[in-house]
Amino acid sequence: MTAAFLSPRSGDSPDALDIVAIGEAMVEFNQQPGNLSASSAYVQGFGGDTSNMVIAASRQGARTAYVTRIGDDAFGGLLQDLWRQEGVETSAVRVVPGGRTGAYFVTHGPQGHAFSYARSHSAATGLTAADIPDSLLARTRMLHASGISLAISSSAANATLSAMERATDVGVTVCFDPNVRPTLWPMPMARALVGAAARLCDVFLPGVDDLRLLAGVSTPQEGLDWCRAQGVRTTVLKDGPRQVWIDHQGETTTVPAFAVQVVDASGAGDCFDGALESRLAVGDSLKQAVRYAAAAAALSATGLGAVAPVPPEAAVRAF
Ligand code: ADP
Repeated sequence: MTAAFLSPRSGDSPDALDIVAIGEAMVEFNQQPGNLSASSAYVQGFGGDTSNMVIAASRQGARTAYVTRIGDDAFGGLLQDLWRQEGVETSAVRVVPGGRTGAYFVTHGPQGHAFSYARSHSAATGLTAADIPDSLLARTRMLHASGISLAISSSAANATLSAMERATDVGVTVCFDPNVRPTLWPMPMARALVGAAARLCDVFLPGVDDLRLLAGVSTPQEGLDWCRAQGVRTTVLKDGPRQVWIDHQGETTTVPAFAVQVVDASGAGDCFDGALESRLAVGDSLKQAVRYAAAAAALSATGLGAVAPVPPEAAVRAF
């Protein structure tokens, strides 16, 4: 587990990429805590797991591109501004005339926070395999997708699985986070498609809750056994404030999480994925990359929102 996970970069062209991610981005409206009346104020932010992830990777210095569809509405414009600001290439972001960009609201009540989505029939649900051309895959070292990229529509599922298959064929390292959301699709369908994607990928990135939902397991060890039984090659299993489990080449090891004062851990898994993949791209071993990702994710949990508190590389190094 101490060897570089990816072979070193060689003879890169100026338009070479480390990571291409595919999925749906959304605009977030987060209710101001302590002001829960009918006239609450909302702070605007951004979300969408794969978009969060690719921004986190970019903040660590990775060369990134995002593949999605957005509407030609104000929300789509905000997202395009965000990606440009964050140095994420947008050549494969398609603006759909008359299309709508997804949004969601975070409300805070006595039971904690709740998410309400306005995303059905969003532009991203129209993703097709043509949105991720072979020429883009030829420029990248890694491809990142998630269970949400599969769940939003059958067209997006086809686009995502096609990209994963074609990436594998040309030697691109494929990473996949199941991010299971029971509200997005029925569990038998999630189990079947996530299982297929997990077998296809090089690095499977579940959280303990994902495996509880998918496989009914109650411990990380049972979860890793299930992954192995599915034919998954390498699993990095996230277990919140406790530890990260690595199962690679028949060997299992753990890396402890970092203790921090948590404000909002809802985007920590996305930050973890982006930081991990950015480090694998520059030649870290799996264990080194996991340690770095755990530090970045812990720091990201100390602020509110999924994007704003993602630390840049210098802050992770100084932690
Ligand atoms: P997911 O969001 O995918 O379910 P987790 O909640 O396990 O994943 O969080 C992802 C990673 O973020 C964890 O593996 C850990 O490194 C870090 N993390 C999450 N919550 C905390 C926390 N409370 N304290 C420190 N680190 C955390």
